[in-house]
Order: sequence, then structure tokens, then C-alpha cells
Amino acid sequence: TATSPSVLPPARGVVRAVPPYVAGRRASTAATAALASNESHYPPLPSVLEEVARAAAELHRYPDNGALELREHLAAALGVSTGQVVVGAGSTGVLQQTITAHCDAGDEVVFAWRSFELYPLLVQLAGAVPVPVPLDPLDRHDLTAMAAAVTERTRVVLVCNPNNPTGTALSCAELESFLAAVPPHVLVVLDEAYLEYSSAGPTEAIELLHRHPNVCIVRTFSKAHGLAGLRVGYAVAAEPVADALRRAGMPFTVSALAQRAAIASLAAGDELRERVALVRSERARLLTALRELGFAAPDSETNFVWLRLGDADRERALELLAADDILARGFAGDGLRITLADPATNDRVLASLTRFASEPA
Ligand code: PMP
Repeated sequence: TATSPSVLPPARGVVRAVPPYVAGRRASTAATAALASNESHYPPLPSVLEEVARAAAELHRYPDNGALELREHLAAALGVSTGQVVVGAGSTGVLQQTITAHCDAGDEVVFAWRSFELYPLLVQLAGAVPVPVPLDPLDRHDLTAMAAAVTERTRVVLVCNPNNPTGTALSCAELESFLAAVPPHVLVVLDEAYLEYSSAGPTEAIELLHRHPNVCIVRTFSKAHGLAGLRVGYAVAAEPVADALRRAGMPFTVSALAQRAAIASLAAGDELRERVALVRSERARLLTALRELGFAAPDSETNFVWLRLGDADRERALELLAADDILARGFAGDGLRITLADPATNDRVLASLTRFASEPA
């Protein structure tokens, strides 16, 4: 019959095959510590909220499709041209633009694994072929193996630096030798979602871009800027690459609220740097305490810590945390990721994990 599912218009095969993206669980009560999505623990700055309220009065208008003012601010801060900056709906949106702009069906995209969950999904949706390359035993990118995985079908390499979910980072020198080993027609995307929490400065990757025009830097306002709910991210690339990314994006995906908030947030550098400094000192404190408890936790250059745990231990840790109203994120086969928060919440995490370490498995 006409209502039988068998006659419904079928989605493309790759769409049917791709598993849905599973986001970290959201807090159901105010007491819940939501540490599963690497969000900023802090609410938006008052100066940012004021700009959002002002922009809200113009919601009957479309936003500036070119996000020109935001791009001018970013370009000035980073020492690049406005044409080199592309703004999109979160770095997720920008990453999709890079894949859509560069990959035909059957093209290959190399990335480390484990890394950001979305990479294989974006690649598969484009009909391209994901080529995951295992992290090294220290949970870092194996750049030698990644360079060796590049074939003539490779169009894009995604480098998550620092890496989600392991928190590990690559140095500029390591990236420089990697770029020397990758053919110049392959786009090397540096996903720097957690850059502000790392020891790298804001223009180190830009210097790489000046020397290697096949680099595309992707950043976000969702993490250190604390604007995950507004959805704004950006790419910096050579002008022709940036042009292609813009063509591959949908119009009006970045709201006026998001554009104004991002501009206000760029002006609030000192306040944000204080927040980031607190996260970094808490990170050092937690890592020391967790290692004393016996956890295998690599150095982190992000706003989260990574605990390497087998499946049974991971499930037991998640259960103990959940019993204390703490949401963390488990990754089958690999471990557990916990977003850093304020000192009191971090203490709750330590108390739960102290119980984990003292109870028999
Ligand atoms: N890249 C990485 C490495 C991430 O961890 C995330 C968020 N989890 C993103 C990109 C996407 O963030 P957004 O779309 O909010 O900018």
C-alpha cells in the first residue's frame, strides 16, 4: 500500500549506513555536573549577553551572510586578510564545508583514531572514504603513519590538535615535518577547537599556513569563548581555499546573535584568559591527583582529562560518577573523558574517582 515503509523514498545508501552522531548527555537538574561535552563551565560574559540582546531587536532581518565585521576582527587579530577567514555554524559546520568542498565519492580522508567522533561521519556522508590511523601508545597522533596513509585518492587530512578525546597536542615542529611529508594538493585541516587551553599561541598555526598554503585552520567560539549554544566557528586558509569553503556552505547559517556575540567575546580577551588560566591550573591539580590514584592519564592541553580504561573499569567509573550526579563521556574500548569545571565540581569528580580506586573491581 501507499503507506508501506517499503515505498517511502529511500535515503542515499551512505546516509542509511552512517550511524547518528551521539552527543554527550545533557544535565537534567541544576545539581548535575555536566562534564560530558567539553563546554565552558562558565556562563556567557555580561558584555556578550548585552550584544546578544541588542542584536535580538533585529531578528526580523537576515544576518549578514558574509559575516564581514566578525571576519574583519578575526583577520586583524590573526594578521591575515579578511578573504582568508570563513565563518560557519560552529566548527562542525566549517568542517563539513571543508569536506564538501574537497571530496568526491571515493576520495579518501585521513585522520587519527581515536579522535573527534564526527570526522568519520562527515566523511561518510560525503560519500568519501574514512582512513583512520591509530594513535601511538601515548595517545598522540602518529604523524609518520598518517603521512604513510596518504594515497593518490587522499584529498584531506584532519589533524585534531589538541586531540579530542585524549587531550594530547602536537608541537609546531612536529606539524612542520608532517607538512613537509604531505603532497601540497592535499588539504591539511588543523582542528584547533581547544587551542586556547593549550600552550600554543594564537598565531603559531597561522605561521604554518604562511609556509604551507594547503593548511586550513579551524577554530570555534564553543569552548574557551563559552558560546557553544550560539554555533559559531571559523576557518583560516589561503584565499582560494577559503573561497571554496564559502561556496560549499549554506547561506545565513550564522545568526546575527552569534556574529555579535563572537565580536563581543573577542573584545573580552582578558576575562576569558582568566577563566582559561583557572582551567589550566585545575587541570594540573587533577592530573596529579588522578595519577596518584593510579589512573593512566596523559598530559592534557585542553579543558578535559582523559583516563585510559578497559571497558569494565570504564563502565564502573561512569556508574560511580553518575551515582554522584556527574556526567562524563565513555568511549568504548578506549577510556573516559571528563571535562574540567570549577574547583568545587572538580573535587566532586576526584571524590568519586577516589572511591573507584579504593573499591575492588
Ligand atoms: N572539533 C573538535 C575537536 C571538538 O571537540 C568539537 C566539539 N566537541 C568540535 C570541533 C565542534 O565544536 P563546535 O561545532 O561547537 O564548534
